[in-house]
Amino acid sequence: MFEADDLSSDLSGRAMHHLVSELFPICRSITGNGLRQTLRKIQDYIPLTTCEVPSGLKVFDWTIPAEWNIRDAYIKSSAGDRIVDLRASNLHVVSYSVPVHVRLSLAELKKYLFSDPDHPDCVPYRTSYYSPTWGFCVAHNQLVSLQEDEYEVCIDSVLEPGHLTYGQLRLAGNSADEVLISCHICHPSLANDNLSGIAVAAALAQYLRNRDLRYSYRFLFVPGTIGSIAWLALNQAAIGSIKHGFVLTCVGDAGAPTYKRSRRGEAEIDRAWVYTLQQSGDPFTVVPFSPFGYDERQYCSPGINLSVGCFMRTPHGKFPEYHTSADNVSFVKPAALRDSLDRAIATIDVIENNVTYVNQKPMGEPKLGDYGLYSGIGGTSADDYQMALLWLLNMSDGTASLLDIAERSGLPWDILKQAAVALTSADLLMRQ
Ligand code: ZN
Repeated sequence: MFEADDLSSDLSGRAMHHLVSELFPICRSITGNGLRQTLRKIQDYIPLTTCEVPSGLKVFDWTIPAEWNIRDAYIKSSAGDRIVDLRASNLHVVSYSVPVHVRLSLAELKKYLFSDPDHPDCVPYRTSYYSPTWGFCVAHNQLVSLQEDEYEVCIDSVLEPGHLTYGQLRLAGNSADEVLISCHICHPSLANDNLSGIAVAAALAQYLRNRDLRYSYRFLFVPGTIGSIAWLALNQAAIGSIKHGFVLTCVGDAGAPTYKRSRRGEAEIDRAWVYTLQQSGDPFTVVPFSPFGYDERQYCSPGINLSVGCFMRTPHGKFPEYHTSADNVSFVKPAALRDSLDRAIATIDVIENNVTYVNQKPMGEPKLGDYGLYSGIGGTSADDYQMALLWLLNMSDGTASLLDIAERSGLPWDILKQAAVALTSADLLMRQ
């Protein structure tokens, strides 16, 4: 149906959506075979390398946990029917549940059942990574309909020393300075949070991989929190090369785009995102940094303090399907994935081309007609291209970058780039 390299070239977004549907059934957690299977699937599309970090390894203030794998889990009625079954949805088991095989009364069983009365038809998503326990998640309507019975409860899981797995891809540009693009890969069958981020990140890597790039690009596919902390702790020598970055999450729902600023607030990447969102003319939201959310928290911790923001559509917790079985493949829209990819590409184009020029004829305006650059007829208003020539000449005193001029003039990026090329060819601008 789709070729492996269609993620970025398919303008409909359906190739990315197909990847989301391929990844959806896999039972993922912060460690385990589901992660490896997920990374192998992404390798069908981009040449990721994977890294295995051993359980017990200290990473900053954290320790890599035991590896968790699960074969089967169910609750059976005394009649032998599987009334709750991992095979039906991997959200049914609290992630990192320890193994158990017992018979319980309804009252005893209920101590281990989690539901969400606000979304009574949905199975909620629960985890217990760092305190050993077990549990099942069920729709509230199912919970209240359970009859008195003796239930057979089984979680066939294994929690033992192993590894935490993450994937990364580095695309070499002309500079060793890097742009970091990160997404989390630890959620089980939840599509927007965060299979959408995986699909858009993989598509972005495909888009960038055969281009002549100013920056090098590092894509990280890591389990949330512990994965980014592990990467940072194990790659401290690489941190200094990261000049810009963003986390991709919840980028497939039909809501308007949202950009969360980095801790620095006005970093170049923050300004580039805000400028491209403004230029689109579509509704969008920009939110300030806060130490809650996704892995931007780790990249923006005070000792790291990278210029890393977070791009999403509807933020986590703000859509009713969030962390429930309703965040499924059909909740994610191909057109929204494509729109998110296009916005990331537009922002990267700003970062790639944000250079500073110096006007070589700064005494009065140069006589543009003599350079073939004056097309206007006296008395008519200047078009965007003529205005771009004038803004570039006026502000290019060596202190203003192309993004500074774009922000101040409000002109479209492509027209400013085009005008800068023309002025450079005419020797009126020189790149600093
Ligand atoms: Zn989440």
